Amino acid sequence: MLTKDSSILIVGGGIFGLSTAYHRAKAGYTKITMLEKGDAIPSPLSAGNDLNKIVRAEYEDPFYAELALSAIEELGSNPLFAPHYSQVGYLLGNSAAAPEKSKRSLAKSMASIERHPAFATQITAINSRDDVHAVASALDGPMDEWTGYFNRLAGYARAADALRSVYAAVKEMGVDVKLGRTAIIGQQITAKSWLITHIQLTPEEAAQLEGIPVTYSRDLGFFFEPDRKTGLLKISPSGAGFTNHQENGFSVPSERNDFIPPGEEEAVRKILREHLPRFADRPLVNSKICWCADTADSEYIIDFVPGRLPWKDLAVATGDSGHAFKMFPVAGVMDLLEKGKQDVERWKWKEGSNAATAEVSWREGTTRDLSELVLS
Ligand SMILES: Cc1cc2nc3c(=O)[nH]c(=O)nc-3n(C[C@H](O)[C@H](O)[C@H](O)COP(=O)(O)OP(=O)(O)OC[C@H]3O[C@@H](n4cnc5c(N)ncnc54)[C@H](O)[C@@H]3O)c2cc1C
Repeated sequence: MLTKDSSILIVGGGIFGLSTAYHRAKAGYTKITMLEKGDAIPSPLSAGNDLNKIVRAEYEDPFYAELALSAIEELGSNPLFAPHYSQVGYLLGNSAAAPEKSKRSLAKSMASIERHPAFATQITAINSRDDVHAVASALDGPMDEWTGYFNRLAGYARAADALRSVYAAVKEMGVDVKLGRTAIIGQQITAKSWLITHIQLTPEEAAQLEGIPVTYSRDLGFFFEPDRKTGLLKISPSGAGFTNHQENGFSVPSERNDFIPPGEEEAVRKILREHLPRFADRPLVNSKICWCADTADSEYIIDFVPGRLPWKDLAVATGDSGHAFKMFPVAGVMDLLEKGKQDVERWKWKEGSNAATAEVSWREGTTRDLSELVLS
């Protein structure tokens, strides 16, 4: 039975870890310790340690749409998060050459929100270049036959800043954080990565793009408003990602991540040519592959570890599958600890899953293993 002076040990000070620490401390738990492998928070190892992340409630599954909506509400109103959230909207579409799978995924995305009362006045269909210009005049690429929609109830969070803010709060609330400390947890997920890169804009160029929506061409990739402090514009190409399989069959994050996998630079240039051709040849800076913990069905794993380990009451909150940053404000309220068991079926421990072969509708193409690539 958990009481307010029960000891809670949290391994990892990323999105799930910090959010859990914050909500447990807020609920009155007094003995919370957090071990973080990195020597700082945000940790260089955290997928959340990034310039910015998309915040949107479009999910094919209403369960996640509702969860994301509650997170968006917190992001906009909780003083811990609100300074780090910009509700610039989300422009989602497909280029003319998009494959059918990408078009189906977009249609499902729109269907997931268009009948929801929270989005009643928030969505505009985009069927022409003029429609694009009406919501984002700074996007002056051809975007021929680009179709999709603009959702005003979405935007992005300055990710590393939000992590810093919550970290300061949990320390203030008495959570004992031990940096540079590690622990081992079970494995049933596939480490999978995607490229994140940036172009550097001058202050004048950045000003021209101020306030543009997060723009995601499903089949090509996405980019953000330039960062207001640095002028860096973040870009990430679409695709099924990269794994790093070991002899034991597990994919784990690679030691070196500061490179552009073969073919990915051209993918980034294509995004720029389509939307912002004036920057199409700009050098790419701060490029890295960013790892997430992928599950076969893209569902999180938030559950107790079945009883084969020496620890009692060991729970994991992982399997983010590349879509958990936006849940930062609510990830830690998933009240597994008090309930003593996970009754949300989709988040239960998944034995024997095979994420590498999963068919997730919003991921295009084939996953490549780093061992197949010739890296420069
Ligand atoms: C390319 C890319 C783009 C993304 N874009 C978005 C987006 O736009 N919107 C969105 O919502 N989500 C996005 N995500 C997903 C989001 O970043 C992750 O879902 C989220 O960061 C996962 O949180 P986490 O707590 O599971 O992991 P992390 O944030 O990675 O935190 C894990 C923490 O554990 C620490 N750690 C690791 N091993 C140990 C150990 N053995 N002992 C102690 N500590 C340890 C790490 O240092 C780290 O601090 C993206 C992910 C990627 C890869």
